[in-house]
Amino acid sequence: MAVKDKIELKSLTRDELLARCEPAYRADQILEWVYAKQAGSFEEMTNLSAAFRQKLAADFELNAVHALKTRNATDTTEKFLFQLRDHSLIETVLIPATPGLTTQSDRHTVCVSTQVGCAYACKFCASGLDGIKRNLTAAEIVDQVLQVQKQSGERVSNIVVMGMGEPLANYDNLLRALRILNAPWALGIGARKITVSTVGLVPRIKQLADEPLQLRLAVSLHGATDEVRERIMPVNKKYPLKELLAACDYYVNTKHRMMTFEYILIDGVNDMLDQAQKLGGIARRLRAKVNLIPYNPVEGLPWKRPERDRCKMFAHTLKTHGVTATLRTEKGTDINAACGQLRLQHEHG
Ligand code: SAH
Repeated sequence: MAVKDKIELKSLTRDELLARCEPAYRADQILEWVYAKQAGSFEEMTNLSAAFRQKLAADFELNAVHALKTRNATDTTEKFLFQLRDHSLIETVLIPATPGLTTQSDRHTVCVSTQVGCAYACKFCASGLDGIKRNLTAAEIVDQVLQVQKQSGERVSNIVVMGMGEPLANYDNLLRALRILNAPWALGIGARKITVSTVGLVPRIKQLADEPLQLRLAVSLHGATDEVRERIMPVNKKYPLKELLAACDYYVNTKHRMMTFEYILIDGVNDMLDQAQKLGGIARRLRAKVNLIPYNPVEGLPWKRPERDRCKMFAHTLKTHGVTATLRTEKGTDINAACGQLRLQHEHG
């Protein structure tokens, strides 16, 4: 948490800040500047004395991420490339629900990253190509949401933890960040509006089920048999389907909430009808929704997106199993919004 012995302010809970502030009401003044007024510097906090502001600047680091560039897709998805203090790069995406040039959309979802790179090396994913560099701090996760909100001028209503990295491999910082984003003294984003997506880390899914926070769970399945899943997701060797589905079952029954399976469709790899049928059976037993995502091709990787009709057939098969399936009309394809693609372009020039 400490950067050059300064404390990252956005990693702190209100109680932790209270313990560091004398008199205590100053903590709430600071929090109001940081989260409600989105101050970019301690200098702006003009109801605090100049001496106190100087002390704050000496003790705390206010900003954890800095925007390097943003890209707008024609569907109004907006992608942010952020630089961290150690010069690492991460990506964050803002996705409006009902894109349009004239109509305001009422829901704004931010897709946040949790690690620099990723250790899980899913064969189709750009984020894991260079392995993992490090976990993000809680402040770096929180600040992605704040900076997107500030830069876009849109109030963030939903969070999906589907950016770069494996969120459950950075469990403590992730939970700390989500508790802060959820807190009424920060952004007050409802836990039910926060979705955590995982490659399928079985012990961590169970741990998440036992948290009081009512987060939504999404599991990246991408294969309905061990054979198919293992071909593209090495993690399946460690946590095979049987164990993964048992953990999902535990989550659903502990939380009494529906979960989601994400299933990217890759041509000739996992888009066969027998996979659709098996996936239908799995999702039905768990009463889970399925998000079908036609693969977003990554430069240098051999995988392709199936024809539209084939994707529709796959979705239709799920529906015949009584499963709610959405075939995502991908947003942001023209800005390479799939995980890790913008950063990859930047780093590999
Ligand atoms: N590590 C977590 C969250 C990050 S990835 C997880 O695996 O769920 C978010 C989602 O994007 C995952 O379902 C992932 O498999 C998917 N994804 C990765 N690369 C993609 C690509 N090129 N096209 C479409 N989806 C992709």
